[in-house]
Amino acid sequence: MISASAVTKRYPEGLEALKGVSFEITAGEMVFITGRSGAGKSTLFRLLAAIERPTAGSIVVNGQNLAALRNRAIPYLRRHFGLIFQDQKLLFDRSVLDNVLLPLAIVGLPPKEAARRARAALDKVGLLDREKAHPIALSGGEQQRLAIARAVVNRPAILLADEPTANLDADSAAVILEIFRAFHQVGVTVVISTHDAQWMAHLSPRILRLEQGRLVGESA
Ligand code: ADP
Repeated sequence: MISASAVTKRYPEGLEALKGVSFEITAGEMVFITGRSGAGKSTLFRLLAAIERPTAGSIVVNGQNLAALRNRAIPYLRRHFGLIFQDQKLLFDRSVLDNVLLPLAIVGLPPKEAARRARAALDKVGLLDREKAHPIALSGGEQQRLAIARAVVNRPAILLADEPTANLDADSAAVILEIFRAFHQVGVTVVISTHDAQWMAHLSPRILRLEQGRLVGESA
Protein backbone atom coordinates (compact mmCIF):
# COMPACT_ATOMS: atom_id res chain seq x y z
CA MET A 1 0.00 0.00 0.00
CA ILE A 2 2.86 2.37 0.89
CA SER A 3 6.37 1.62 -0.30
CA ALA A 4 9.28 3.98 0.38
CA SER A 5 12.56 3.17 -1.31
CA ALA A 6 15.83 5.00 -0.57
CA VAL A 7 13.96 8.23 0.09
CA THR A 8 16.12 11.30 0.59
CA LYS A 9 14.83 14.80 1.20
CA ARG A 10 17.28 17.68 1.01
CA TYR A 11 16.13 21.20 1.77
CA PRO A 12 17.57 24.16 -0.12
CA GLU A 13 19.95 25.06 2.69
CA GLY A 14 21.59 21.69 2.12
CA LEU A 15 20.23 19.95 5.16
CA GLU A 16 19.15 16.36 4.59
CA ALA A 17 15.97 15.83 6.59
CA LEU A 18 15.70 12.22 5.35
CA LYS A 19 18.56 9.98 4.23
CA GLY A 20 17.91 6.81 2.26
CA VAL A 21 14.77 5.77 4.08
CA SER A 22 13.10 2.53 2.93
CA PHE A 23 10.09 0.68 4.32
CA GLU A 24 6.87 -1.05 3.31
CA ILE A 25 3.50 -0.65 4.91
CA THR A 26 0.89 -3.17 3.87
CA ALA A 27 -2.84 -2.53 3.67
CA GLY A 28 -4.54 -2.60 7.06
CA GLU A 29 -1.38 -2.15 9.13
CA MET A 30 -1.09 0.24 12.05
CA VAL A 31 2.39 1.73 12.20
CA PHE A 32 3.98 4.30 14.48
CA ILE A 33 6.83 6.46 13.24
CA THR A 34 8.88 7.69 16.11
CA GLY A 35 12.00 9.73 16.75
CA ARG A 36 13.06 12.89 18.53
CA SER A 37 12.09 16.34 17.46
CA GLY A 38 13.99 17.07 14.23
CA ALA A 39 14.41 13.39 13.30
CA GLY A 40 12.43 13.87 10.09
CA LYS A 41 8.96 12.62 11.02
CA SER A 42 7.03 15.61 9.70
CA THR A 43 9.12 15.66 6.55
CA LEU A 44 8.28 12.01 5.94
CA PHE A 45 4.58 12.72 6.42
CA ARG A 46 4.68 15.63 3.98
CA LEU A 47 6.26 13.30 1.42
CA LEU A 48 3.72 10.52 2.04
CA ALA A 49 0.88 13.00 1.57
CA ALA A 50 2.48 14.40 -1.61
CA ILE A 51 2.71 17.86 -0.04
CA GLU A 52 6.42 17.77 -0.89
CA ARG A 53 8.45 15.55 -3.20
CA PRO A 54 11.54 13.52 -2.37
CA THR A 55 14.91 14.74 -3.65
CA ALA A 56 15.81 11.11 -4.46
CA GLY A 57 14.20 7.73 -4.11
CA SER A 58 10.61 6.75 -4.65
CA ILE A 59 7.41 6.61 -2.68
CA VAL A 60 4.68 4.44 -4.13
CA VAL A 61 1.19 4.72 -2.68
CA ASN A 62 -1.58 2.57 -4.08
CA GLY A 63 0.61 1.78 -7.07
CA GLN A 64 1.33 5.43 -7.85
CA ASN A 65 4.85 6.82 -7.64
CA LEU A 66 4.47 10.14 -5.84
CA ALA A 67 7.78 11.45 -7.17
CA ALA A 68 6.46 11.23 -10.72
CA LEU A 69 2.92 12.33 -10.02
CA ARG A 70 1.55 15.26 -12.01
CA ASN A 71 0.25 18.08 -9.88
CA ARG A 72 -3.25 17.71 -11.19
CA ALA A 73 -3.32 14.05 -10.09
CA ILE A 74 -2.66 14.98 -6.45
CA PRO A 75 -6.30 15.76 -5.49
CA TYR A 76 -7.30 12.28 -6.71
CA LEU A 77 -4.52 10.66 -4.74
CA ARG A 78 -5.55 12.58 -1.61
CA ARG A 79 -8.99 11.01 -1.74
CA HIS A 80 -7.35 7.85 -0.43
CA PHE A 81 -5.94 9.77 2.53
CA GLY A 82 -7.29 11.14 5.74
CA LEU A 83 -4.75 13.70 6.88
CA ILE A 84 -4.38 14.84 10.46
CA PHE A 85 -1.56 17.36 10.43
CA GLN A 86 -0.53 19.73 13.15
CA ASP A 87 -1.02 22.87 11.13
CA GLN A 88 -4.47 21.85 9.96
CA LYS A 89 -6.82 24.52 11.11
CA LEU A 90 -10.37 24.03 12.19
CA LEU A 91 -12.85 26.69 11.14
CA PHE A 92 -13.63 28.44 14.38
CA ASP A 93 -16.51 30.48 12.99
CA ARG A 94 -18.42 27.36 11.93
CA SER A 95 -20.14 24.68 13.94
CA VAL A 96 -18.60 21.28 14.63
CA LEU A 97 -20.97 19.73 12.08
CA ASP A 98 -20.08 22.32 9.42
CA ASN A 99 -16.38 21.60 9.93
CA VAL A 100 -16.98 17.94 9.10
CA LEU A 101 -19.30 18.77 6.20
CA LEU A 102 -16.65 20.86 4.47
CA PRO A 103 -14.70 18.04 2.77
CA LEU A 104 -17.98 16.56 1.57
CA ALA A 105 -19.02 19.80 -0.12
CA ILE A 106 -16.05 19.38 -2.46
CA VAL A 107 -17.20 15.88 -3.39
CA GLY A 108 -20.70 17.22 -4.13
CA LEU A 109 -22.89 14.87 -2.12
CA PRO A 110 -26.61 15.61 -1.73
CA PRO A 111 -27.06 17.59 1.54
CA LYS A 112 -29.01 14.86 3.32
CA GLU A 113 -26.43 12.19 2.57
CA ALA A 114 -23.62 14.59 3.51
CA ALA A 115 -25.23 15.33 6.89
CA ARG A 116 -25.75 11.63 7.52
CA ARG A 117 -22.10 10.88 6.79
CA ALA A 118 -20.82 13.82 8.81
CA ARG A 119 -22.85 12.68 11.82
CA ALA A 120 -21.57 9.12 11.39
CA ALA A 121 -18.00 10.49 11.50
CA LEU A 122 -18.78 12.59 14.60
CA ASP A 123 -20.31 9.53 16.22
CA LYS A 124 -17.09 7.55 15.67
CA VAL A 125 -15.07 10.16 17.55
CA GLY A 126 -17.67 10.63 20.30
CA LEU A 127 -18.69 14.17 19.35
CA LEU A 128 -22.22 13.63 18.09
CA ASP A 129 -23.72 15.56 20.99
CA ARG A 130 -21.48 18.56 20.21
CA GLU A 131 -22.46 19.04 16.58
CA LYS A 132 -23.88 22.54 17.14
CA ALA A 133 -20.96 23.74 19.27
CA HIS A 134 -18.19 25.89 17.83
CA PRO A 135 -14.67 24.44 18.01
CA ILE A 136 -13.57 27.15 20.42
CA ALA A 137 -15.89 25.60 23.02
CA LEU A 138 -14.13 22.23 22.71
CA SER A 139 -11.18 21.01 24.75
CA GLY A 140 -7.86 20.30 23.03
CA GLY A 141 -8.62 16.59 22.90
CA GLU A 142 -12.08 17.24 21.48
CA GLN A 143 -10.64 19.56 18.84
CA GLN A 144 -8.25 16.81 17.83
CA ARG A 145 -11.19 14.38 17.64
CA LEU A 146 -12.99 16.87 15.41
CA ALA A 147 -9.94 16.99 13.13
CA ILE A 148 -10.09 13.18 12.95
CA ALA A 149 -13.81 13.22 12.11
CA ARG A 150 -13.09 15.68 9.30
CA ALA A 151 -10.26 13.49 8.04
CA VAL A 152 -12.32 10.29 7.95
CA VAL A 153 -15.62 11.61 6.61
CA ASN A 154 -14.60 10.70 3.06
CA ARG A 155 -13.84 7.15 4.22
CA PRO A 156 -10.15 7.12 3.30
CA ALA A 157 -8.22 3.86 3.07
CA ILE A 158 -5.17 5.44 4.73
CA LEU A 159 -5.02 7.69 7.79
CA LEU A 160 -1.86 9.76 8.20
CA ALA A 161 -1.58 11.52 11.55
CA ASP A 162 1.44 13.67 12.42
CA GLU A 163 1.88 13.92 16.21
CA PRO A 164 -1.86 13.70 16.89
CA THR A 165 -1.36 13.40 20.64
CA ALA A 166 1.16 16.22 21.06
CA ASN A 167 -0.04 18.85 23.53
CA LEU A 168 -2.65 16.51 25.01
CA ASP A 169 -2.81 15.13 28.53
CA ALA A 170 -2.38 11.37 28.90
CA ASP A 171 -6.12 10.65 29.21
CA SER A 172 -7.04 12.63 26.08
CA ALA A 173 -4.15 11.04 24.21
CA ALA A 174 -5.38 7.57 25.17
CA VAL A 175 -8.86 8.40 23.82
CA ILE A 176 -7.34 9.57 20.53
CA LEU A 177 -5.28 6.40 20.22
CA GLU A 178 -8.34 4.24 20.87
CA ILE A 179 -10.11 6.03 18.02
CA PHE A 180 -7.21 5.27 15.67
CA ARG A 181 -7.21 1.69 16.84
CA ALA A 182 -10.90 1.38 16.03
CA PHE A 183 -10.23 2.55 12.46
CA HIS A 184 -7.36 0.10 12.21
CA GLN A 185 -9.64 -2.69 13.37
CA VAL A 186 -12.07 -2.06 10.52
CA GLY A 187 -9.27 -2.30 7.98
CA VAL A 188 -7.99 1.26 7.60
CA THR A 189 -4.22 1.62 7.20
CA VAL A 190 -3.07 3.92 10.02
CA VAL A 191 0.29 5.70 10.16
CA ILE A 192 0.94 7.86 13.22
CA SER A 193 4.02 9.83 14.15
CA THR A 194 4.98 10.54 17.72
CA HIS A 195 8.12 11.57 19.56
CA ASP A 196 7.15 9.17 22.33
CA ALA A 197 6.07 5.73 21.16
CA GLN A 198 7.11 3.78 24.25
CA TRP A 199 3.87 3.83 26.10
CA MET A 200 1.77 3.06 23.02
CA ALA A 201 3.82 0.06 21.99
CA HIS A 202 1.09 -2.29 23.16
CA LEU A 203 -1.24 -0.88 20.52
CA SER A 204 0.78 -1.70 17.48
CA PRO A 205 2.92 -4.51 16.19
CA ARG A 206 5.15 -2.05 14.37
CA ILE A 207 7.24 0.98 15.27
CA LEU A 208 9.63 2.60 12.78
CA ARG A 209 12.30 4.73 14.41
CA LEU A 210 13.97 7.73 12.77
CA GLU A 211 17.16 9.28 13.99
CA GLN A 212 18.64 12.32 12.25
CA GLY A 213 16.86 11.46 9.04
CA ARG A 214 17.77 7.78 8.99
CA LEU A 215 15.58 4.82 9.72
CA VAL A 216 17.51 3.20 12.53
CA GLY A 217 15.23 0.58 13.78
CA GLU A 218 12.06 -1.31 13.60
CA SER A 219 10.48 -3.06 16.51
CA ALA A 220 7.59 -5.42 16.68
P1 ADP B 1 10.36 16.00 13.21
O1 ADP B 1 8.99 16.04 12.63
O2 ADP B 1 10.85 14.62 13.50
O3 ADP B 1 10.50 16.92 14.38
P2 ADP B 1 11.14 17.44 10.82
O4 ADP B 1 10.78 16.58 9.67
O5 ADP B 1 10.22 18.57 11.16
O6 ADP B 1 11.39 16.54 12.11
O7 ADP B 1 12.57 18.07 10.58
C1 ADP B 1 13.70 17.31 10.20
C2 ADP B 1 14.83 18.26 9.86
O8 ADP B 1 14.54 18.94 8.64
C3 ADP B 1 15.06 19.33 10.90
O9 ADP B 1 16.44 19.57 11.00
C4 ADP B 1 14.36 20.54 10.32
O10 ADP B 1 14.94 21.73 10.77
C5 ADP B 1 14.54 20.35 8.84
N1 ADP B 1 13.42 20.89 8.06
C6 ADP B 1 12.13 20.52 8.14
N2 ADP B 1 11.38 21.21 7.27
C7 ADP B 1 12.21 22.06 6.62
C8 ADP B 1 12.07 23.05 5.59
N3 ADP B 1 10.86 23.30 5.04
N4 ADP B 1 13.16 23.72 5.19
C9 ADP B 1 14.36 23.46 5.72
N5 ADP B 1 14.60 22.54 6.67
C10 ADP B 1 13.54 21.86 7.12
